[in-house]
Amino acid sequence: MYQSTKEVRLNGFVHFRTDEFSEIVKNSLSRLSKLLGNSKPNSLIYLAASGTAAMEATVENCVSENDKVLVINGGAFGKRFCELLNYHNKNYNSVNLNWNETLTYEHLKPFENQNYTMLFVNLHETQTGQLYDVKMLSDFCKKNNMMFVVDAISTFLADDYDMEKFEIDLTIISSQKGLCLSPGMSFVSFSKRMLEKIENMPLLQTKYFDFKDYLKNIPRGQTPYTPPVLVMYELEDMLNLIDKEGGKDARLKAVKAKCDYFRRKAKENNIGLLSIIHYQMRLLHCILMMLMLMKLYRF
Ligand SMILES: *Cc1c(COP(=O)(O)O)cnc(C)c1O
Repeated sequence: MYQSTKEVRLNGFVHFRTDEFSEIVKNSLSRLSKLLGNSKPNSLIYLAASGTAAMEATVENCVSENDKVLVINGGAFGKRFCELLNYHNKNYNSVNLNWNETLTYEHLKPFENQNYTMLFVNLHETQTGQLYDVKMLSDFCKKNNMMFVVDAISTFLADDYDMEKFEIDLTIISSQKGLCLSPGMSFVSFSKRMLEKIENMPLLQTKYFDFKDYLKNIPRGQTPYTPPVLVMYELEDMLNLIDKEGGKDARLKAVKAKCDYFRRKAKENNIGLLSIIHYQMRLLHCILMMLMLMKLYRF
């Protein structure tokens, strides 16, 4: 986390049912929306919950009885979409990839002209590190008249992402990944036709996560329930920081430079990415052992 983000918390905050807080929300959401490549006003909401809640809310708010969903299941997060769709009794099928198997158009072909209405994908599958080809998926959706739903939690501000350019109907992002903020806030951004679809959904199995309530409140900079106020302040600070750096493209370049440095150093020191994972596991083991010993000897 950036130093300035940490310091935001020292400055205190105002009560959230005020015009002052509403202005911060309206301003920051409109800037964030632009970074997502969505120029439609009031089409971005936020939830007081981690990314998985936004994934589950999307399943419940956007998939109707008449929908048939195709999921790209290439790892833990793709599997999570399948589990959520299954839990909510939605009609779905999945393209299942093996470890290290690259998604190609060949994988999608068997699902063409099969009346699928939506595609769900975690554009960057965080578990395996595979970044799927957004253009290929977008073309597939267009060709088959499907809505394109993207979990961009580990894509946004790490790789190029643009909702209008790739005709994406719904995007999920989260505070604790590319934005480098505290955890506890997730965002959902909608295309015009997705907003229309949500408006016409029958009664949902969720009250707290009913998108319609959030969409109703967002034009006045408010949420139906208490928001994570301090994360909203952190967001404002981060948006200022990105602007100061020179905007989205400059940000992506800086992230890439860090990433290249990390990979180069790992290679120079003969550390494969898998051994880094092993190293992390060993570190975790040590910490757990220490905690157990501390408990044992009542430190
Ligand atoms: C981190 C992440 C999530 C969200 O997980 P939470 O623990 O619920 O925040 C969802 N999808 C992807 C691709 C992620 O990397």
